[in-house]
Amino acid sequence: MAQGRGGLRGARIGAGPLGEPERGDLAPRVVASFWCGNGHHSQPSFAVEAVVPDVWDCPKCGLPAGPDRENTPAVESNAPYMTHMGYVRQRRSQEEGEVLLNEALAKLRGTI
Ligand SMILES: [Zn+2]
Repeated sequence: MAQGRGGLRGARIGAGPLGEPERGDLAPRVVASFWCGNGHHSQPSFAVEAVVPDVWDCPKCGLPAGPDRENTPAVESNAPYMTHMGYVRQRRSQEEGEVLLNEALAKLRGTI
């Protein structure tokens, strides 16, 4: 009885009359594999001309991911705050630190 209005007829969307490919020529792409420290595997694709990066952010957890499954990139310290001495130690070797310290002491003593 209640007949529809033929809403299903011709419902195909975007099909060109000639069946043309939707996206035109696809640029050739390469798929790279990356693993993050949490073991997530992601496979971003890159244009062939593009340089595949050494590190890719894991789309699942955001950790840096690398192409070597057994040797994932070291996680940069996510510590929100590091003490000043932490930064100093990070930047200077012990030896350099002593040189600086001696210079500072010498200045304090007025010998420079
Ligand atoms: Zn991950």
